[in-house]
Amino acid sequence: MDHAATTALRPQALEAMLPYFSERYANASGGYAAAREARAAIDRARAQVAQAIGAKPSEVFFTSGGTEADNWAITGGRDAASYERRRIAVSRVEHHAVLRACEALSARGTEIAWLDVDESGRVRPEQAERVIAPGTSLVSVMLANNEVGTIEPVADIAAIAHRNGALMHTDAVQAVGHIPVNVRVLGVDMLSMSAHKFGGPKGVGTLFVREGVRIGEFMLGGAQERGLRAGTENTPGIVGMGAALELAVQEMETQARKAAMLRDLLAQQVRCMQGVRINGAQDERLPGCLHVSIRNWDSSLLLARLDMEGIAASAGSACASGALERSHVLRAMYPGEADGEWADLRLTLGPENTEADVLSVAAALGRILAS
Ligand code: PLP
Repeated sequence: MDHAATTALRPQALEAMLPYFSERYANASGGYAAAREARAAIDRARAQVAQAIGAKPSEVFFTSGGTEADNWAITGGRDAASYERRRIAVSRVEHHAVLRACEALSARGTEIAWLDVDESGRVRPEQAERVIAPGTSLVSVMLANNEVGTIEPVADIAAIAHRNGALMHTDAVQAVGHIPVNVRVLGVDMLSMSAHKFGGPKGVGTLFVREGVRIGEFMLGGAQERGLRAGTENTPGIVGMGAALELAVQEMETQARKAAMLRDLLAQQVRCMQGVRINGAQDERLPGCLHVSIRNWDSSLLLARLDMEGIAASAGSACASGALERSHVLRAMYPGEADGEWADLRLTLGPENTEADVLSVAAALGRILAS
């Protein structure tokens, strides 16, 4: 029940990857047949990723994952002057990969303007309209929140950003492969994604950078990724990402319908339990995500009890678990609530979950809460 943290590698992605660990191990930069074969495999994957998000292959840059893609987009790479005006507007519910990159910029003098959210975790375009102004160089609002699953009005915010001459970035790590994502429809200049969230391998991601946007190098060295992101390509990872994303898009409608059905069944079971509140948007949200708060419970205790029942769940983002503090996302949604008042629980469904899983998780939660 923690598929927002990561997903199982799709067997077809594994199969596509295997030859690039063994007989087809050549460095794609070489000048011989085996290298050209590796280069062709990377090109194929680049086309698969581009096709999945409505981009051109030349706008797809492979990275080591979502974190790197976010860091690159926010900092602008080493050529930070590429964002000529140094004021950025960011939502309060971003992943730490965006927030920590913003903190680093802030320490160097960039002004950060915060975009608030309502109780459902949605950025309010009216407030964005007031905060984003000429002089803002970059706006970053995620497409789907990794804790509560709320889908953000990215296209509306992008229009505001562009009216003010700012670039628009979206962290689409939780969205790509799960809901339709098209960079032109969203109107974004940069978009981050990560393979391991849709049945691809860990350690590979993509930053989409719209043609014409000037972004600085993220890694210095060789000429890989058009000289912007040096380092020998992770050929097996890239191939796995392309294969997994193509399948995820093909199966999206069926999978989303099934995940939403299971999520609604789970919600129906837990809604009536003592002290339970369901969080996040009820309409615009990820199909497989159910986030609840339970009054007068402790998150760590609840997760430990679920773990003892063989249930893998999370309080919010994996990176924040173990921390006693409430997540920044729930704080932004409910600023009036004291830490420790509620236990937060995120249950995220994946393709291998069944109705029986959902019913047994609900039963276990019911037993724990009643004990
Ligand atoms: N952004 C969001 C919204 C995420 O959920 C995650 C992963 O949890 C990341 C970024 C980081 O991605 P990666 O694990 O590929 O570094």
